[in-house]
Amino acid sequence: MALAGCDVNVTVTPGNPGMPGRLPGGASISIDARPASELESDLVVIGPEVPLVDGLADELRGAGRLVLGPGADGAKLEGSKAFMKELLVDAQVPTAGHWTITELDQAASVLAGLSPPYVIKTDGLAAGKGVLVTDSLDEAMADVAAKLSGDAFGAAGATVVIEEGLMGPECSLIALCDGQRAVPFAPAQDFKRLEDRDGGPNTGGMGAYSPMPEVDESLTAELMDLCVLPTLDALRSRGIDYRGLLYAGLMLTEAGPKVIEFNVRFGDPEAQVILPRLCPGLFELLCSAANGLIEGRPTFVEQSAVTVVLAAAGYPQSPVLGATISGLGADGQLADGLDGVTVFHAGTARSDPSAPFLVAGGRVLAVTALGEDLAAARVLAYQASDRIDFDGVQRRHDIAARAAEEEGR
Ligand code: AMP
Repeated sequence: MALAGCDVNVTVTPGNPGMPGRLPGGASISIDARPASELESDLVVIGPEVPLVDGLADELRGAGRLVLGPGADGAKLEGSKAFMKELLVDAQVPTAGHWTITELDQAASVLAGLSPPYVIKTDGLAAGKGVLVTDSLDEAMADVAAKLSGDAFGAAGATVVIEEGLMGPECSLIALCDGQRAVPFAPAQDFKRLEDRDGGPNTGGMGAYSPMPEVDESLTAELMDLCVLPTLDALRSRGIDYRGLLYAGLMLTEAGPKVIEFNVRFGDPEAQVILPRLCPGLFELLCSAANGLIEGRPTFVEQSAVTVVLAAAGYPQSPVLGATISGLGADGQLADGLDGVTVFHAGTARSDPSAPFLVAGGRVLAVTALGEDLAAARVLAYQASDRIDFDGVQRRHDIAARAAEEEGR
């Protein structure tokens, strides 16, 4: 990721042991365990959703800091699916029909009137795992019961959103917003299901690629006009000054594009294929958005990127932690390096810098490769990810396969 033409130092808190000391653009990275409020900086970028929903951006802005990331009011777009749906309906942004449910018998009558696929979501945060899409009415009812009872997701499932099932290719569009204006990053596609051919349960994402050949500049502009800008307007009309990243998860249905979710940050694994393609200047761009006046827009290299996620045994239900990871060097990159490959760490740990990396989370690593087109990036991403191993590793084998094939026609 190229941050800027000038010297930029990035401090990450809490960070992880696989973070490199320097980024390809030259910026240095250091890790610091202190909270963001105690770190000196010109700009704070809040990455994960939980501190955003909990109001960290408000706290830091209140202390006079320059921050990129919405306050708790705007972060509700991700923190509550019911709030997000209400806002989208107000803003006339196309989205799946929905019903907000707190009682089991309400759910039974709603589901009886729908045809499959049935889509059940927790209202609150569930790390990408609170969504069930199923053709079985029995499974849908059992899932609503488990969520409402608190057994499955605690308080996050006390309210459930049932949605009309949509069909079509998915597209993730991340926009940088300054409260009034928004500019898009390159579209990407992620793969939510655990297994090949979209089998198995939903996950936080098992791989991604960018660009999406079928989403060109003009469709991107259309998606911004239809989905992102009206959302920003609706937030503003509620007095919400949204300065941060707005990630729209879209489905390109036969009846036109529809929003299926918003995240209030860079989503992963999309970020792992979008940011490596970014041309220099990210730091200045993020500062301009945080200051309320975006200058410029992100630009991207022609190369394509594919990332393959390596997940722990038992993920997503109950990841098995502690396995030793082979194939990585002391710097956390491939021991046996390949040009154009970056290994991003998510769920890894090690006792000291000379010890091997261990599995410490559900999604463990994302292996990204850049290539002249999707087919080349895909071959390299798999060649690289095949050099890494641990007990029970789970990976999909079909990330970007269809897009690479279509690109060749
Ligand atoms: P979400 O966390 O809301 O993005 O949902 C996770 C995944 O579930 C999405 O990426 C889709 O693959 C699927 N999904 C969510 N909502 C719908 C829907 N209304 N119709 C069909 N699939 C959906």
